Amino acid sequence: MALEEYHRKRRFGVTSEPRGGARIKRRTRKLRFVVQKHRATRLHYDFRLEWDGVLLSWAVPKGPSLDPTVKRLAVAVEDHPIEYATFEGVIPAGEYGGGTVMLWDRGSYVPDQPDVGKSLAQGEIKFTLAGKKLRGSWVLVRTRGYGGSRSWLLIKHRDAAAATIDVATEAPRSVASDRLLGEIAFEEGGDVRQAVSADPHAAIEAALRDPRTAKRKPKRAPAVWHSNRPR
Ligand code: MN
Repeated sequence: MALEEYHRKRRFGVTSEPRGGARIKRRTRKLRFVVQKHRATRLHYDFRLEWDGVLLSWAVPKGPSLDPTVKRLAVAVEDHPIEYATFEGVIPAGEYGGGTVMLWDRGSYVPDQPDVGKSLAQGEIKFTLAGKKLRGSWVLVRTRGYGGSRSWLLIKHRDAAAATIDVATEAPRSVASDRLLGEIAFEEGGDVRQAVSADPHAAIEAALRDPRTAKRKPKRAPAVWHSNRPR
């Protein structure tokens, strides 16, 4: 596993995403997971599991479901650096993945089989999540198809953490900053209109009634990068 594809797709002078490669001081030996809600060209949830020094990553268009009868498509994407687990903010428009990123959930996970690399190669990873929103037993299973299939399914197993509520709608805020996607875009210089389109209506209406909303101020200039290269 390596970060070549991750590096090839990004310009680190432009995006504030981490380059990776820093030596991370670890307080625990627990493996971590993170789910980032990402309003790019399309809304998706990036589901990431730490393994072997990187974050194995899948893009889940509809986000995780707590309902064991619901299978969510999870498209395998390039490994991300461990530092990405703390990234929340704005990727400039026009860059790879341009849009607003929220730390939607995070915590630790325990794989059923200790060698996650082997499970990955075999196309079935079972694990138990200990996050704020996602808990209990889950599986990622690669769909049948051509040899190099990037399509997987993310499925909740039946246990005490299973539920039929729509967790994406019921728990739409950042676990790191308690912000909605639109609030992150507003404060970090992103495309507010685009980001708000991915926030649930009820949450936006509640935010508009909240007196703290009027006190929010942009912390950064708009994340626009003007290219001087001919197009
Ligand atoms: Mn993404």
